[in-house]
Amino acid sequence: MTLAQDRDTNSNSRINFDYDLAIVGGGIVGSTLASALKDSGLRAVIIEAKPLEIAAARRQAYALSVLSSRIFEGIGVWEKIFPHIGKYRHVRLSDADYPGVVKFQTQDLGTEFLGYVGEHRTLLTSLQEFIATSDNISWLCPAEVMGVEYKDTGAEIEIKHEGETRKLRTRLVVGADGSRSHLRQWAGIKTRGWKYWQSCVAFTIKHQAPRNDIAFERFWPTGPMGVLPLPGNRCQVVWTAPHAQAKAWQELDEKEFLAKLERYTGGLLGKLELVSDRVLFPVQLMQSDRYTQSRLVLIGDAAHCCHPVGGQGLNLGIRDAAALAQVLQEARDRGEDIGNIQVLQRYERWRKLENLTILGFTDLLDRTFSNNWLPVVTLRRFGLWIMGHLPYFKIYALQLMTGLKGRTPQLAQR
Ligand SMILES: Cc1cc2nc3c(=O)[nH]c(=O)nc-3n(C[C@H](O)[C@H](O)[C@H](O)COP(=O)(O)OP(=O)(O)OC[C@H]3O[C@@H](n4cnc5c(N)ncnc54)[C@H](O)[C@@H]3O)c2cc1C
Repeated sequence: MTLAQDRDTNSNSRINFDYDLAIVGGGIVGSTLASALKDSGLRAVIIEAKPLEIAAARRQAYALSVLSSRIFEGIGVWEKIFPHIGKYRHVRLSDADYPGVVKFQTQDLGTEFLGYVGEHRTLLTSLQEFIATSDNISWLCPAEVMGVEYKDTGAEIEIKHEGETRKLRTRLVVGADGSRSHLRQWAGIKTRGWKYWQSCVAFTIKHQAPRNDIAFERFWPTGPMGVLPLPGNRCQVVWTAPHAQAKAWQELDEKEFLAKLERYTGGLLGKLELVSDRVLFPVQLMQSDRYTQSRLVLIGDAAHCCHPVGGQGLNLGIRDAAALAQVLQEARDRGEDIGNIQVLQRYERWRKLENLTILGFTDLLDRTFSNNWLPVVTLRRFGLWIMGHLPYFKIYALQLMTGLKGRTPQLAQR
């Protein structure tokens, strides 16, 4: 590929840059940022280590919040995604077999759906196809970033591409390279958090229930179980338990596993069939001390990770991408240098505290429900009662989990 070179119009005017920004990591979060910058006037490259098809082939599905759907709609990619994803109008929150079930429905939020469930392939290929129609965004893929040198005026990225090592120059580097982010580590950015005592077993089932528009979160003392509807009477299940138990469930004979699953889903989905492998994921909570330094900014799992309860991780990353796109676009329109730390701190001030709130909320949910100590059991059942009987609390929790609390990116207001 040819690397376009142009002349910087800002303070560092004698430097030739290959790109205004390089997004390292073409996962859903990195690709959302690139899509949001279509027609922005900024020239971006996405550097992805895996071939595009392999990057999209991950067998995972995610709960997508109402705010994420609005961001995709603002970008212009939602109409590609919408026909191929699960939609839910109801959410049922229950404490194991305790009868006090909290039920959320669309009237509580005034929206057509309470949320959506998208498979990784559907989401990422839609974004990849959208990016392919953009003149100002290009891919460097498969290409691995080997190192970055940050200078006052820009950054020099060393990449390995088609067996050759070469360098490219950019004003800004965006780390969208996932939870083990090399960019974060190379920059010496520390993280806080912990690994949970639990792992998740994630898989897809086919069921026989007559309707497929309900998402469940059932809290068992071993850990939460999320059941999310997918098209074709399928559901994505994320089942959390202490490591050894999760591993045992992953390895359990299929018939026994399904019998156990039918018990744990309370028979709500009828007879079940397993239609994917059971994949084991470790679970962690992580927040980076900083999201930025001069010429570098982190988004998505590179900046933070949370427990999968409530399906928040990717949604936070999509919000990061929309917020950063807005900050960069505004900076460009004002003639500011987009890699300047003062510009990048606007993004950090916007997103860091909002992410921390959700990280804290998911941690609180997991700890209070994965617990059999009587005072905690009493407290959480009282909490469920409050949510079920006092609409203010119910709607507040729903708005928090659907992304409708906090500052809304302009993309989601279009
Ligand atoms: C079991 C489970 C269930 C979940 N369910 C949900 C859910 O329902 N809803 C939700 O919102 N979230 C959910 N999450 C969280 C979600 O999976 C993550 O938050 C999300 O995938 C992070 O996306 P990302 O693009 O930031 O990172 P990634 O998906 O990790 O993408 C990073 C990309 O960077 C590339 N890369 C890495 N290093 C380099 C390099 N040096 N050079 C070039 N490229 C590189 C990788 O190949 C990859 O494509 C769940 C997580 C788990 C574990």
